[in-house]
Formats: sequence, structure tokens, C-alpha cells
Amino acid sequence: MTNDKYEVVIGLEVHAQLLTKSKLFSGDSISFGADPNTHVSPISLAHPGTLPVLNREVIALAVKLGIALNCNITQHTYFARKNYFYPDLPKGYQTSQDTAPICKGGFLTIQTPNGEKNVKLNRIHIEEDAGKSIHDMFENYTAIDLNRAGTPLLEIVTEPDLSSAQEAFDYITALRKLVRWLDVCDGNMEEGSLRCDANISVRLKGEKKLGTRVEVKNLNSIRNVKKAIEIEVDRLIRIVETGEKVIQETRSFNADNNTTFSLRSKEDADDYRYFPEPDLPPLNITQEYINDIKKTMPDLPAVLQEKYIQTHGLFAYDADRICENKDDANYYEMLAARTGNYKSTANWIIGPIKNYCNENNVGIKDFSVDMEKVAALINFTETGKIHFNVASTKLLLAMIADTAASPESLAVSMNLLQENDIGEIEKWINETLDSMPEKIKEYKSGKKGLIGLFAGQVKKLSKGKADMEAVTKMLEEKLGKG
Ligand code: ADP
Ligand code: MG
Repeated sequence: MTNDKYEVVIGLEVHAQLLTKSKLFSGDSISFGADPNTHVSPISLAHPGTLPVLNREVIALAVKLGIALNCNITQHTYFARKNYFYPDLPKGYQTSQDTAPICKGGFLTIQTPNGEKNVKLNRIHIEEDAGKSIHDMFENYTAIDLNRAGTPLLEIVTEPDLSSAQEAFDYITALRKLVRWLDVCDGNMEEGSLRCDANISVRLKGEKKLGTRVEVKNLNSIRNVKKAIEIEVDRLIRIVETGEKVIQETRSFNADNNTTFSLRSKEDADDYRYFPEPDLPPLNITQEYINDIKKTMPDLPAVLQEKYIQTHGLFAYDADRICENKDDANYYEMLAARTGNYKSTANWIIGPIKNYCNENNVGIKDFSVDMEKVAALINFTETGKIHFNVASTKLLLAMIADTAASPESLAVSMNLLQENDIGEIEKWINETLDSMPEKIKEYKSGKKGLIGLFAGQVKKLSKGKADMEAVTKMLEEKLGKG
């Protein structure tokens, strides 16, 4: 349902599992898919006598993301206990951050049909994950796997600043790209290392007060975030249109039948009785530390894109494709340094190289052909020795099949080199034109389309080896003059 009377308001809470080796407060390993309850030390269970020790790497990753998202880094911060009972929370509280989240404010830029939009962030805080309740393993029991308990997460919370399902989609897409770019999180939503809850409300256009929100959980792909928001917006507008009141509640998305259903109502804020974690000292993050982190950070995709457009002369679309992930951008930089030609390097990466990698499910950094040889191949096409189509299909595949061979030797042995010797080309052209006097007359009386026929004949005589650009040019010259 689309309804012009209403305005949609969305705020997203994204949990990103950090790419550390161990948990937030213990040396327990974090690895996806381990046997249940094999990475659970007494510290993860908060047994009496154990003490948590902060994993420094978590702070570095949080600060890194905070810098990239234009946040203020909170220099005096502390952890707090968020108390609640649940079977998958063996400690009886979650160690989190309450009034002093490590990052405050900030924004993430997305592209919208009306130009760029800076989606405002509320905060980023550090917290530990809970374990996992498994309901479908035993008929009458719930199984608990505590491997995940204590895994470090960042919760990235936006202001209610998104105004459509599409913007939410673009926001998470950009956020996922950024956390991957910075090696903060692997971004795999299907495996749960990036999780999103969407808060949605509608209000009449012009209304200042926010409408009552619902929160939709269990969104395990970016597509589902969009889908769930679309469904919820329709449902909320329908409720408001019939004069009923929206109930503030938590809902779940069922991707099998594209519906949402109520999990629980959420009348008031839960009382978690937060208090500062007595077993961990407060943190003092110095400006020097923040500056040091800044120095280790790679150029962000937006910065590189701008550079590729402004100084390399790439089209915006191509620069965007090259900056899809950091490996592609690195590969582009290294390859361009060898070819000395930005545009053709970008075209080769976006086209044949990425196509091959995608089809064969290999990352570009594992592309098997030596970069020097790829550069030689590109320069080969640039100097007209071989046609791009032939190079990008036949020769590239031959190079992948025989990574020891040089592109030159392969091109020669496969007879792929283009003839651009003007003398040779002229011979074929003369032979062609001599055999078609009638067609030349027709051409001269205006049937300019016949140039294709002449060119085709030259191609045939040369067995496909003539440089067709040179052929067309010479044909035009000869026919024009005569
Ligand atoms: P909690 O879910 O823990 O109660 P918050 O009050 O911090 O937390 O809000 C969570 C998210 O909901 C934030 O992203 C916020 O922007 C968003 N939000 C709050 N109110 C609304 C609303 N009326 N409509 C849409 N989103 C909202
Ligand atoms: Mg919430």
C-alpha cells in the first residue's frame, strides 16, 4: 500500500560481531560452527572467583569504526551490568555499556534519489553476546549452546532518521561494506555476524511527534530488512487508517510467508537495573591512542572513489564498482601501477576479471594469474596487438589454464594476434574492393551501410586477424576519395 498522507520513520539497531580471535572478557575462542559448549570457560559463565579481563582488540575495532562513522569517541567510558534472566545468559547479566557508549553521534552517508543523505547515528556501544537457545533439536526440551556467550559485539544504533525501506536497505548495505572494509566484522548476515532489528513507525505528514513504533527482529538478510519494513509500513498504515491505535510491540519476521507476527508487547522500558561493572576498571582512551588508530586505517571507500573519479578519470559508476570491497580496490591500485592506464585497468577488472572470479567463486586477491602478466595482457589490447574481445575471452582463459606461459607466447601459438600492419590490411581491402565494383557504386550513391559488407569481407580474407578499427578507417578513406 502506498499512501501519500503518511511519512515513514525508521531507526535501525545493528549488532556486528567483531573479528577478534577471542571473547570480550576471556581467552575463549570465537569460531563459527564449533561443537556446542566447547568454547565456554568459567569466566564466560562468571563463576565465583573468576574475573573478566578486557580484550584490547575490541576497543581498537570500536574506535576504528567510530572514526569511520564520524562519531565522537567517548574518552572516559566504563562497562555496566544489564541484569536480566534468560536460560542462554548464564551470568544473569549482560556486560554492556549504559550511559557512556564508546561512540556517540556520527553519521553514515548513503545515496538517495535526491542526492546524498547523512543518516544520523545515536551511538555505538560494546556488549557481549548471549548463548543460543535451540528449540528444534529435542521434542520436549530446549538445548543451550553457550559458545557464543561472551562474544564481542558492537551495537550500532541510528536516530529515527531513515524514511523508507529502500533507505534502510541502502544504509545496511553501506554499513556492511564499511565493517568489512575495516576488518571489523565479516558482515555475514546469514551466519548471524551482522544482525539487524528495525524500529518502524508512521505518522501523518507534517506531524512533529513520532508515531508509536514496532520493532521487528530476526532479519537475517538485507533483502529481508527491506521486505519486513515494507510489510510493516503497510500494516501500520492500515491500522491508523481504520482509526485504531498501534500497539508498541516486538515482532518477528517470517521470511517463508512474508509476514510479521507479534512476539511481545513493549509498553514501558524494561528495568535492567544497570550498574557499573565492579570487576572492570573504567577506561581512559587517550587522544594519542585515537590518533594511532587513525594512522592504521585504510583509505575509506568514499575517499578512494573520489580519487578515482577526480584524478584517475574513471566514471562514477566504475569507481563505485572498483570500491565494492577493499580487495578489489587494492587489486586495481596495484594493477594500474603496472599498466599505467587507469581506465583500461578498471574496465578489465569490472569486466572479465571480476566475472571470472564471481563465476568461480574466488576472491580477486586469489586470482591465479600473475599481476605482471595481467598487465601485459591489458597493454597488449591497448596497443592494438589483440582485440579486447579475443583477449578477454580466449587469451585470458588460456592464461588461467597455463599460468606459467606468457600472454605473448600464448597469443602467438593460438594465432590470436591482430594484424595491424597497414600494408597487409591494404592488400585485403584492395582485394575486397576489386571484387565488388557494383557495391562500391551503390555505396557512393548513398547506401553507407554497405561499409559493413566490405569490412566483413576484409575480416574473412584476414581470417579474423585484421585490426578492424584500422580496416574501417582505411575503407572510409578509400571510398570517400574514390
Ligand atoms: P530500545 O529498543 O532499547 O528501547 P531506543 O529507544 O534506543 O532503544 O531505540 C531503538 C531504536 O529505535 C533507535 O534506532 C531509534 O532511532 C528507533 N526509534 C525510536 N523511536 C522510534 C519511532 N517512534 N519510530 C521509529 N524508530 C524509532
Ligand atoms: Mg531495541
